[in-house]
Amino acid sequence: MAITHLVFDLDDTLYAERDFAIGGFRAATSWARESLGIEVSLDRMLALLEDGHLGKLFNMALAEAKADHSADDLKGFVKAYANQTPQLQLFPDAALALSHWEGRLKLGLITDGHASTQHAKIAALALTRRFKHIIATGALGPDRAFHKPHPRAFELMQSALGSPGDRFVYVGDNLSKDFIAPNTLGWTTVWINRPAHQAHRIHKHTTAAIGGEPKFSIGDLAQLQTILA
Ligand SMILES: [Mg+2]
Repeated sequence: MAITHLVFDLDDTLYAERDFAIGGFRAATSWARESLGIEVSLDRMLALLEDGHLGKLFNMALAEAKADHSADDLKGFVKAYANQTPQLQLFPDAALALSHWEGRLKLGLITDGHASTQHAKIAALALTRRFKHIIATGALGPDRAFHKPHPRAFELMQSALGSPGDRFVYVGDNLSKDFIAPNTLGWTTVWINRPAHQAHRIHKHTTAAIGGEPKFSIGDLAQLQTILA
């Protein structure tokens, strides 16, 4: 019988990415106060985040406090966000699911982003040793070249965890990018969409990609037990 390997996404799959964003906004606004002598509004940053201005919100929030800010000001502001020491907690169902599966299956983690930022989150959640193999796609090449939906991380995970013919399962939250590559590689794809967390997801404004539909949709990771049975 084929061996099953269980691979997770990190942000908004195992913990609330919004908590990381809030901690980072605090670090960035403190930096702006100490280094630039200006007050950037934390509430304003949160409102921009809720409105889906993920990429541009640092520039927008900084410009509202300092219209003539320099490129270096923005760099320092974003750096303070990225270099925060995060304080994070697993979703309760994620904590239970990891405890259940870690002794039974090989666990993997594939997460997009800068390797240093993602590994700080992984350390904050005490996950480093709970996964057999961890890939932060930012470590595979520059300029987001190997971020999802690029298949490289999934191919590397396959060779790290198992052999041809094994069953691989990927659990993620983002319909726009998480499931395209694993679907192509014949993995079982599972969308975790917790009803209580829907409104707070960082990527709630994204839409489903063609070829990126998950095979299963669940509201609680406890349901993995049915899918993997
Ligand atoms: Mg995610």
